[in-house]
Amino acid sequence: MSLITLSESECKDCYRCVRDCSVKAIKINNGQAEVVKEKCINCGHCIEICPQNAKGVTNHLEKLKRLLKEEKVIASIAPSFPAVFDCSPGQLITALKNLGFHDVEETSIGAEVIAREYKKLLELENKPLISACCPAVVSLVEKHYPDLIPYLSPTISPMIAHAKLIKEISKDIKVVFIGPCIAKIKEIDWESSKGAVDLAITFDELKGLFSLEGIDYQSLDEDQFRSVSGNWSKAFPVENGVLKAADISFGLSTEILSISGLAECMKTFEDILNDDISPKFIEAMVCSGGCINGPGITSELSINSRKERIIRYAQKEDTIDNKFDMDKFKIDTSREYLNCKIEEKIPTENQIRLILSQTGKFSDKDELDCGGCGYNSCREKAIAIYQGLAELKMCIPYMKGKMESLADIIVESSPNAIIVVGKDMTIQKFNPKADELFNRNDEIAIGHKLYRYIDPKDYLDAWFNKKSISQKKVEYKQYNLICEQSVFPLIDYELVIGIITDVTERENHNERVAKMKETTLEKANQVIHKQMKVAQEIAGLLGESTSETKAILYEVRQLMQEEER
Ligand code: SF4
Ligand code: SF4
Ligand code: SF4
Repeated sequence: MSLITLSESECKDCYRCVRDCSVKAIKINNGQAEVVKEKCINCGHCIEICPQNAKGVTNHLEKLKRLLKEEKVIASIAPSFPAVFDCSPGQLITALKNLGFHDVEETSIGAEVIAREYKKLLELENKPLISACCPAVVSLVEKHYPDLIPYLSPTISPMIAHAKLIKEISKDIKVVFIGPCIAKIKEIDWESSKGAVDLAITFDELKGLFSLEGIDYQSLDEDQFRSVSGNWSKAFPVENGVLKAADISFGLSTEILSISGLAECMKTFEDILNDDISPKFIEAMVCSGGCINGPGITSELSINSRKERIIRYAQKEDTIDNKFDMDKFKIDTSREYLNCKIEEKIPTENQIRLILSQTGKFSDKDELDCGGCGYNSCREKAIAIYQGLAELKMCIPYMKGKMESLADIIVESSPNAIIVVGKDMTIQKFNPKADELFNRNDEIAIGHKLYRYIDPKDYLDAWFNKKSISQKKVEYKQYNLICEQSVFPLIDYELVIGIITDVTERENHNERVAKMKETTLEKANQVIHKQMKVAQEIAGLLGESTSETKAILYEVRQLMQEEER
């Protein structure tokens, strides 16, 4: 299962994550941006950039609460914490203990162990050595640059080293890593890490838990770490931090590199593969600026200000003398790597051309390479379609053209006349029904002024008064037509649209019916008049009142008049 989750109702298929995922580990499936776990390196970038907050990480807080309730748990807190929490380290320790942690240690203890290994390896190896602290870098190599596997440092990460040390010292203890990293949540399940860390959560998750439990860490008393690391291993999460901790001298040398950010990592790896550069040691971190910019940190602080906090903390003299004794405990720091690159189907030129043609691209000039689909070129996207990662309808210009032609079909086949004019009343659109009703000369109406065909009064009214006219009855005597027309302006486009329905037949029919009624009424009046006269005469002879008969006859007449109205 992928670590990165997607809320389907939130994903609005904007393709931003497709565009921004440098390893193209996002597949669009029925308009939903799914993560392809075989390609994903869990850098977390797509979570950060999604404008809809559609992507996230599986939440681990329930598991943490259970662990804290049932087990003795030590928190291994990543060295970037001073850049995240506005409180002293001592207050953070108290807050963690209030949550139920038995004790708290800095992951930088593990960093110190690994830094020593790097130093040793650098002296021994005669080939480039790529640091393996960042699990996203490890995944990048294993999944996308397997030819570089021999250059990856054959060492576990500081997180795993620290957890192994904790478990070496104290039995029956659980370790929870808290840090800025999403990739580390995955790392704890790797074969080389198995059993070391029991749970990994992010700083953001921890902050959420503090507020859920009502723990105001800034107001707490200070406690102490169980043991601390050497000073410079605390600088691991910033650029050059690994080099400093491992006491590897750097500067203008091209042999020692510090790279951060996925794009820079990929470029450097390609340079190594192409023999363009030949560094001895590469400190590599997928997050730009290092772990202080990890996806598990939400902070208003700039990278430099986060960095300054870390360096200041690393330079501070420890007030406690419980420094971890590195030489007292031994752990196995070795690990192996796997080639996890998936074989991707490569289409032939003909297959690419066929896919391109399905989105109206028949020659080079049709390939706009606009990037709207999230791919850099139409060909790249065609290959992605072939590989099942993309869909035809992701091509924005193609879909726009299709929508326009669909709109055109609707306008062209409308049973109503549709006339669109510019604000100067020049005709822009004149559909076949408009031709049938108003264009008796069979000329091309587009480009002519509207008054050439119909009275532009309503169009002018709609444009200048910015109003819509709805179903107004208009008689076009020159065409023997009675119409109902709706006219409305499109201000942003400087257009006025008129939809005109020919209601001549209906109106003529109504007129005929009205005439018939009028004649009937007249006839009825005559009958009433005659009947009343007769009734009066009979009533006179019989001596009865004629009022009842009169009332009935008046009622009949009134009913007919009402209907007439
Ligand atoms: S960035 Fe990706 S997940 Fe977010 S809305 Fe756009 S396509 Fe969907
Ligand atoms: S986590 Fe990183 S690699 Fe994975 S899909 Fe998102 S952006 Fe791509
Ligand atoms: S740079 Fe640090 S936070 Fe970012 S992915 Fe690597 S280990 Fe995680």
